[in-house]
Amino acid sequence: MTLRRPLVAGNWKMHKTGAEARGYARSLRELLADGDGRVQVAVCPPFTALDAAVVAFAGSGVEVFAQAVHEADAGAHTGEIATGMILGTGATGTLVGHSERRAAAETDLQVARRTRAALDAGLSVILCVGESLDRRDAGETEAWLTAQLRAALPGLGGREDALSIAYEPIWAIGTGRTATPESAQAAIAHVRRVAGEQLDAERVRVLYGGSVNADNAAALMAQPDIDGALVGGASLDPESFAAIVRAA
Ligand code: PEP
Repeated sequence: MTLRRPLVAGNWKMHKTGAEARGYARSLRELLADGDGRVQVAVCPPFTALDAAVVAFAGSGVEVFAQAVHEADAGAHTGEIATGMILGTGATGTLVGHSERRAAAETDLQVARRTRAALDAGLSVILCVGESLDRRDAGETEAWLTAQLRAALPGLGGREDALSIAYEPIWAIGTGRTATPESAQAAIAHVRRVAGEQLDAERVRVLYGGSVNADNAAALMAQPDIDGALVGGASLDPESFAAIVRAA
């Protein structure tokens, strides 16, 4: 029996105002009202909607995570957000290293520092890794994942309760092109093996992300190493996000 509680997180990216977050929360709360709490559920609104989302989801069991975080406590970092600011909204976690942030020049070193800073501050972290189509076609998927994980995970042993890893092949994000359950399972088994160099591999949750929707979620999450999903586009509609939560 797995020790790992499934986690389904919705990444809203640059969508929804505070008012829209409140409306979304009203719908999602109703849709999940009969849930048994077996699945951990989180939404990741933009920074400007964190406060509103925390208030709107209070007492529902749905957690609110940020989408990114800076490693410094404070300072001259225009446009960035510190761990204390996230905690100050009442949010309880953050994504780190999403491929859209890495593409905008977030380095492996920053990802490592930000993961550690967030965990040290008491936030939960979903650390994102994944290969581009070029890497996959070149047969370099495993080597790429190994390098990203070895850059981010050293020293994080013992943090398995707060740290999840999301395997998100870049070619599957927002493209409608999902990894097959078998190929996602193979990559995630590799992620778990490499994570096992630093963490208790049986306790660390590894999620799949990349065009997850209500139709493909159950088959993906039925794979033995897939502990949940990081959902982009399909999380924007409470009905489809709730259907994915139910599939988990
Ligand atoms: C994501 O942005 O993390 C993601 C998985 O997006 P989508 O579900 O839209 O592919």
